Amino acid sequence: METVRETPRTTTLVLDAPGWPGHRAGQHVDFRLTAEDGYQAQRSYSIASAPEDPELRVTVDRLEDGEVSPFLVDDVLAGDQLELRGPIGGPFTWSVDDGGPLLLLAGGSGIVPLMAMLRHRAARGSEVPARLLHSVRAPRDAIFRRELLGLSGPSAAGPGTASLDVRWTFTRAAPPDWDGFSGRIDAAMLEAFEPAGPPGSSGTAPAGRAHDPDALVFVCGPTPFVETAAELLVARGHDPGHVHTERFGPT
Ligand SMILES: Cc1cc2nc3c(=O)[nH]c(=O)nc-3n(C[C@H](O)[C@H](O)[C@H](O)COP(=O)(O)OP(=O)(O)OC[C@H]3O[C@@H](n4cnc5c(N)ncnc54)[C@H](O)[C@@H]3O)c2cc1C
Repeated sequence: METVRETPRTTTLVLDAPGWPGHRAGQHVDFRLTAEDGYQAQRSYSIASAPEDPELRVTVDRLEDGEVSPFLVDDVLAGDQLELRGPIGGPFTWSVDDGGPLLLLAGGSGIVPLMAMLRHRAARGSEVPARLLHSVRAPRDAIFRRELLGLSGPSAAGPGTASLDVRWTFTRAAPPDWDGFSGRIDAAMLEAFEPAGPPGSSGTAPAGRAHDPDALVFVCGPTPFVETAAELLVARGHDPGHVHTERFGPT
């Protein structure tokens, strides 16, 4: 196993998982840690890598008062062995064969399973229209930002880059010259993020309404973030049956 520091708070564990059966983007694994006295703790971590990637990756956010995440971020060393079970999870998964358009909303480390979906989309050269809105405290917390800028936007090239729109909102500290979103996700931000019409179209939906109520929506992050975002999306007319949610925090 190797480790890669992503942000000051997050680390990716690159795992050798002999006999790994493969996974769908969006699934997770469970780690079980056992102390010398036999005490055990188990936690779930989303798979960050695409099914096509040769390595299995998870990305862990360090919670200051957490039991397991500080150990995984600070103490695990290359070559260590971890006990894991997986892949786990069904409804919160996506494959390019499921089609789109895709609408992805992430809060903090909730980006991890959505990144697996976008890595999978890129690995397959898919043109399925996709939008991602990532809510983080400050730019330094924007996990995978550099990679996401390479998959979308004016400097990106290759299949699917023109049909991927990635945005960030900074809830605590936006840079002085920032002209993107800031603050928590609300109805006005969703209206601007998801204007009337998919990327490149003129669109016909009235203000406040989703341009594509049948989009496949995935929302992931801390429980309050997920609940607020899902409610706002349904209020915009998104089909609740297409709004998939994954809550990372306590209920
Ligand atoms: C399906 C699933 C996938 C997950 N994927 C990821 C992932 O990819 N990356 C990742 O970093 N985490 C992920 N999590 C969260 C992870 O399982 C742990 O809950 C998290 O790492 C905290 O564990 P801990 O032992 O450090 O904290 P704990 O000791 O369990 O909790 C410490 C304190 O933090 C609170 N707390 C617990 N979890 C959260 C949270 N997520 N946000 C805010 N407060 C919290 C607790 O109420 C407590 O007060 C996932 C959770 C689920 C259910």
